[in-house]
Amino acid sequence: QSRWISALAETSQSFKGHDMLAPFTAGWQTTDQNPLVIEKSEGCYVYDVHGNKYLDSLAGLWSTALGGNEPRLVAAATAQLNTLPFYHSFWNRTTKPSLDLAKELLETFTARKMAKAFFVNSGSEANDTQVKLVWYYNNALGRPNKKKFIARSKAYHGSTVISASLSGLPALHQQFDLPAPFVLHTDCPHYWRYHLPGETEEEFATRLANNLENLILKEGPETIAAFIAEPVMGAGGVILPPATYFDKIQAVVKKYDILFIADEVICAFGRLGEMFGSDEYNIKPDLVSLAKALSSAYMPIGAVLVSPEISDVIYSQSNKLGSFSHGFTYSGHPVSCAVALEALKIYKERNIVEHVRRMTPKFQDELKAFSKSPIIGEIRGTGLIIGTEFVDNKSPNDPFPPEWGVGAYFGAQCQKHGMLVRVAGDNIMMCPSLIISGEELDELISSYGKALKDTE
Ligand code: PLP
Repeated sequence: QSRWISALAETSQSFKGHDMLAPFTAGWQTTDQNPLVIEKSEGCYVYDVHGNKYLDSLAGLWSTALGGNEPRLVAAATAQLNTLPFYHSFWNRTTKPSLDLAKELLETFTARKMAKAFFVNSGSEANDTQVKLVWYYNNALGRPNKKKFIARSKAYHGSTVISASLSGLPALHQQFDLPAPFVLHTDCPHYWRYHLPGETEEEFATRLANNLENLILKEGPETIAAFIAEPVMGAGGVILPPATYFDKIQAVVKKYDILFIADEVICAFGRLGEMFGSDEYNIKPDLVSLAKALSSAYMPIGAVLVSPEISDVIYSQSNKLGSFSHGFTYSGHPVSCAVALEALKIYKERNIVEHVRRMTPKFQDELKAFSKSPIIGEIRGTGLIIGTEFVDNKSPNDPFPPEWGVGAYFGAQCQKHGMLVRVAGDNIMMCPSLIISGEELDELISSYGKALKDTE
């Protein structure tokens, strides 16, 4: 236990002695540990300033789908920087890369027909934009009371005021006076943790859909505007929907004229072995949030895809009011759009979805074989995303005391064995670049096994 505890201190993010206030600073930990400073990337690997090489099992932050040195993305950025480094997309002015990317995205998303793409700079901005689109839409329809959002416990939708409100992780709410009052949270669909004794996945999904319906009825369906969900929950611990879950949830929201927003910020562009999470789970969303792998993270960009029904209403309302007054200086930034356009081309040309499907059995089966370990409760995943949860007695009801830092210790051992993983308490998340080879997967699995042995 004491070795676990000291590892927890070492993973502090306080950046003591440095001038940067880091995202998600955990200043309550006191350590002189220096941050890991990454200097270079190459394929699925990154190098720190001391030349140490790590297999980056989280692809940056679930994002560098094409790895760390894809020359075509660099060339696309360079060519655009040399031609037109910036122009905006306000007041009937725009740039060709943004128009081309919108067209390409609408053609790529085939789970249902989408009419428009709105560009932003991040996943958080995409979800903030969703809220404003939905409010504007319901105002246009003369439904000023239909404004509340339902999200899910353990969701991650970003960290701005609105996207953190939609998120369902206590750390994003506590001390920030969030969530905002228009956001309600319903059940996290984690079967292993929350199913009742003897309950099948289908029965669990039915119970959650009933709970959602009861929440809607309690609040009044005329007050609920939209439901937002990640197809597979990422930062909440890689949580997959139980069988029939999205069918049942979609039936409920449809019944009460509630919009469905698919937050595909992690799941899109092949991660699950389909182009989009919506394809994997037969989701027919009204709105979609994209970011991260959209440009393989080489440039900041996100997008919101808007259904024809919503875009028609927004257009006719803006004709009355003058404008849908929302957007950012960098909405549709030409360099980001040029890079994203090239990334989409590469995904298609190299059939990245097929590659993910080929790599999935090794990644999933060989890692899941470690779930026999006495300190692992569950290993869960699909495609090239996987989560490990450490618990005592193999039971979801017996977490290790957080101050023991079991997850942090495992993360530190991975790093010792040349691999970076995402640690969130006793949840470990892995989501390598989609170009990962069989040999690199062997290395990933071997480092995981060594770190686990050290931790047990
Ligand atoms: N939505 C999901 C599902 C995410 O995983 C994330 C980030 O991890 C976000 C939204 C927020 O994206 P960003 O960090 O680009 O604001």
